[in-house]
Amino acid sequence: MEKYQLENVRNIGIMAHIDAGKTTTTERILFYTGKVHRVGEVDEGSATMDWMEQEKERGITITSAATTCVWNGTQINIIDTPGHVDFTVEVERSLMVLDGAIIIFSAVEGVEPQSETVWRQASKYNTPRIVFINKMDRTGADFYRTIGMMEERLTTKPVLVQIPLGKEEKFEGIIDLIHMKVIKWQDKMWGIDYYEEEIPPDYLNEASEYRELLIEKVCDFDENITRKYVEEEPITEDDIIETIRKGTIENKLQPVLCGSAFKNKGVQKLLDAVVDFLPSPLDRPPIEGTNIVTGKPDKRFARNSEPFSAIVFKIATDFHVGKLAFVRVYSGEIEEGKSVYNTNLKKHERVNRILLMHANKRRQVHSVSSGNIAAFIGLKQSRTGHTLSTLKHPIIFETPTFPEPVISVAIEPLSQQDSEKLGSTLRALHDEDPTFEVKYDDETGQTIISGMGELHLDVLLNRMIREFSVKAKIGNPHVAYKETIRNQQFAEEKFVKQTGGKGQYAHVKLCLEPSTRGKGFIFENEVREGRIPKEFIPAVRKGIYEAMENGVLAGFPMVDIKAVLTDGSYHSVDSSDIAFRRAGSIAFYKAAEAASPVLLEPVMELEIISPEMYLGEVIKDIQSRRAQVLGMRQREGSRIIEVFVPLAEMFGYATTLRSLSQGRAVYSMQFHKYDFVPQEIQAKLLKRIRGY
Ligand code: GDP
Repeated sequence: MEKYQLENVRNIGIMAHIDAGKTTTTERILFYTGKVHRVGEVDEGSATMDWMEQEKERGITITSAATTCVWNGTQINIIDTPGHVDFTVEVERSLMVLDGAIIIFSAVEGVEPQSETVWRQASKYNTPRIVFINKMDRTGADFYRTIGMMEERLTTKPVLVQIPLGKEEKFEGIIDLIHMKVIKWQDKMWGIDYYEEEIPPDYLNEASEYRELLIEKVCDFDENITRKYVEEEPITEDDIIETIRKGTIENKLQPVLCGSAFKNKGVQKLLDAVVDFLPSPLDRPPIEGTNIVTGKPDKRFARNSEPFSAIVFKIATDFHVGKLAFVRVYSGEIEEGKSVYNTNLKKHERVNRILLMHANKRRQVHSVSSGNIAAFIGLKQSRTGHTLSTLKHPIIFETPTFPEPVISVAIEPLSQQDSEKLGSTLRALHDEDPTFEVKYDDETGQTIISGMGELHLDVLLNRMIREFSVKAKIGNPHVAYKETIRNQQFAEEKFVKQTGGKGQYAHVKLCLEPSTRGKGFIFENEVREGRIPKEFIPAVRKGIYEAMENGVLAGFPMVDIKAVLTDGSYHSVDSSDIAFRRAGSIAFYKAAEAASPVLLEPVMELEIISPEMYLGEVIKDIQSRRAQVLGMRQREGSRIIEVFVPLAEMFGYATTLRSLSQGRAVYSMQFHKYDFVPQEIQAKLLKRIRGY
């Protein structure tokens, strides 16, 4: 495949609330950008969708991690971003590696809660974006209301570069405010062809008004244009485009476009906007990281002359080629057959082959250079989020912190064969998605997997059964409780065994205290010089750490505890690592049991949008779920209710909410924090778990 100059490369993501039209828009993009090869073959009525179907079967375009297409001499790499809020980490991970984004809103629903989440995430990574207001053809579509919602809910400055020509069933096309022309699409051949027209007289006023607003916003941003405006010099179309580009790249404004992906209107202009307004890798600031040898901050510019660096942003398992590692190269260049240094693992890995995913096929290339996206074959241990660099210039880039897995499910393989398969399957899935945890319960023989939500686990279990054909009994999902302590407590353990031969001796004194939520485990050693030899201290720490995995109340992991080793003694012959590990564990249990242990439960942040008429019922129901109502907002005949609510109360909520509101209320939910389980509920829970 030709190499594109880096200024003609765009690495973008398409992000949207579920159902806003991300899939449809992506399909249309791939269709229009591939049309040159197909115009002749396209036979009205079948070809487009046939082609899409084949693509879907091969599973390498819209569902793949990254696909490449070309528009007007610019290579556009589209990086897949998952749509569901359960997968926010995946969204963040993809945000890290892309340079810009298309955000799609539905003109009917406008800015939905999940779109707000997506928007906030993009802001966190300072990702430049353009907005596409889709579904202009649908009943209830309202472009200007959506703009109002952007201003109100996202507190942003939308810059309208288009306005719609008509709406709902009368949506005919768009008015381009930069060129002051109407653009209309041919109905046949899925809108491959489009043409310009003059703005009809009854739209002229509106168009002029919005054009004036556009110029004002552009002036706000660029002094040069302000000067031209004041001195009444002509402001050219190129001036406007260039300034919007600058503002978009600096993330000071977001151009807004509109259309109907489904009715084949507007998508080519969206592609023009990607090229015109979104940054190339060269327009982005250098990526910052840390040199793992010196510990000093370091950075990489998007230049081939810099040392090689890249991030693995997705691992996919492909039945033909095995493990594919999708990478974004930040600097330097790598050739097939060469090794890269995985900075996280401190290990070399060989890149056997390099693939580019090009619209409908994959293509092997000899090398890939800075600013580009590719898939490597041959990396064995690298995982999503890892940095690849060189031993000589070992840089590590920061990766997003993962939210806590809050929900677990037990899996029992049906046969020994399934049990073996389960192990390798979970390893493969974990390579792809390190956000879920796997634990093996010796007592019950069950494998427990924990994830970020019901849907997250559903997806994993489905893949396990369908793709990897593991047969297993799957339990009901459970809340992933944790345990902690509320008081300070001392304990002492003298672990002595004299059973013929060499004895065992270890003696430790511990003090446990609660530590800040989210800090996990802190260990401090205050033993006076020589009371316990230094070499045994790590064994004590390990003993405590192991004990914390199975809490004293109900076997849930213990967190947020500070353990101080205050004193102890040893025996010159009988003391060993094993003895100190045991002593550490036992002392920990003694102290923890006496330190007012409590259960912690995940509390979620929930946003419910309900039409006014169902509000009473919805609130009554949520209050019965131990929710803490944070506030309420008004929106177009609906109310938005924000609450904190324990996850334990939320199983099956989707069904309840649907029946309470005749399907009209919706909600979105994400992890907020772990908090104490109230006493009486803890008592009931413990009774259920322990059986007494
Ligand atoms: P995603 O969940 O964001 O990927 O959304 P989809 O692309 O799957 O679209 C969701 C539904 O909306 C599908 O039934 C689409 O056919 C429909 N849809 C998408 N875009 C449009 C549009 O522009 N107009 C109309 N009327 N329907 C659309």
